[in-house]
Amino acid sequence: MEGQAPDRGLYFPGTIPQIDPGFIRQIEKHSNESIALEVIRPYVGDCIPVNELQRIAEETVNFDIPLVKINERISSLELFHGPTLAFKDIGARFMSRCLGYFARDNHEERIVLVATSGDTGGAVADGFYKVEGVKVVILYPSGKVSNVQESQLTSLGNNIHALEIDGTFDDCQQMVKGAFMDEGLKRSLKLTSANSINVARWLPQQFYYFFLWKQWADKNNPPVVAVPSGNFGNICAGLLASASGLPLKNFIAACNANDTVPRFFETGKYEPHKTIPTLSNAMDVADPSNFVRILEIFQNDEAALKAVVETYTITDEVTKSTLATVFKKDKYLLDPHGAVAYAALNNYLETHAGKRGILLETAHPVKFYDVIEPVIHQQVPVPPAVEAQLRKRKAGIKMAAEPGALKSFLLEL
Ligand SMILES: *Cc1c(COP(=O)(O)O)cnc(C)c1O
Repeated sequence: MEGQAPDRGLYFPGTIPQIDPGFIRQIEKHSNESIALEVIRPYVGDCIPVNELQRIAEETVNFDIPLVKINERISSLELFHGPTLAFKDIGARFMSRCLGYFARDNHEERIVLVATSGDTGGAVADGFYKVEGVKVVILYPSGKVSNVQESQLTSLGNNIHALEIDGTFDDCQQMVKGAFMDEGLKRSLKLTSANSINVARWLPQQFYYFFLWKQWADKNNPPVVAVPSGNFGNICAGLLASASGLPLKNFIAACNANDTVPRFFETGKYEPHKTIPTLSNAMDVADPSNFVRILEIFQNDEAALKAVVETYTITDEVTKSTLATVFKKDKYLLDPHGAVAYAALNNYLETHAGKRGILLETAHPVKFYDVIEPVIHQQVPVPPAVEAQLRKRKAGIKMAAEPGALKSFLLEL
């Protein structure tokens, strides 16, 4: 319910639970639903009764998460088959259903408030759609999200309210932060944030690392896993899964020009620069919130961290050439975020003969057709579900980038 701890730190499990090794050995025999339940149960304890938790886990993972071979050494774990075509669907669906459960129990209405530069808002809107007892208010910068994303935010209605802010993403974020600090709002409303540091979004992201292992045939030779990283929640979930007994022991943090963590690996100094806009914009994060959780998993032992994680910085030029080459040679269409991970993985494999790897494909390429089409000189096929979505496009409620406007809106909601 509280995204951030009262001292402004991040919540972290008191102990990292160990998954039964017998369960892992038999993982191929288990459904995705029962794997999800087994993984999340120790974190939830008896806060949610097991039959309710089972329903939540089932609804969280009710779409395909296939492992697709690209070539002899590289496969892609496709995380984009959820309702908004983004891997964030998994965390958002889990969180929304947990909040729905607690709202029902407490008879107390919550307002989820979130600023988005694109993917988060769509996944949160879809996840919370028609969840009883929860209203969602999403702020997005006017003219700065794609058509698909805007239609995902604005077309649902019901308990989802999309505000089109006349300003930048930073303005949206400032307004949201302001609302959380506002004493008047605190007194009259129950506000919750749905950003990625919330444990209810972070922890369920472990699921697909287990689904990956289930689908990996060569259990004696675990793959290296390349994760396109921005706020570092996704890779951190993989490292937590590994610490709790999943036999994945090599990870790659693939970054774009926002290279704070790769520079930390090189120099030992954590020095965020200003955020740099790139083609893989969901990863444009200069000061990744979840990195402290990674240090916590390794108990601040840098040598132990470096034995498991390698980092690479990939330029926009290489992102584009990777997209083009993989499409031409392997007939596989990456999105810009997946392309960053592919390029990093490719660099790693050049110096690790005999290894094979998996990249996490975090978004459907159609979401980034404007980047991809000039690179591959072809149109990106639009899936029927997306065409239907685009026809539903409506406008958000227009609002000036002023804290007062948001406050009045929330009080009248
Ligand atoms: C959010 C996002 C990422 C980055 O994930 P983090 O958990 O913030 O590291 C990568 N790719 C896509 C498409 C995203 O939406």
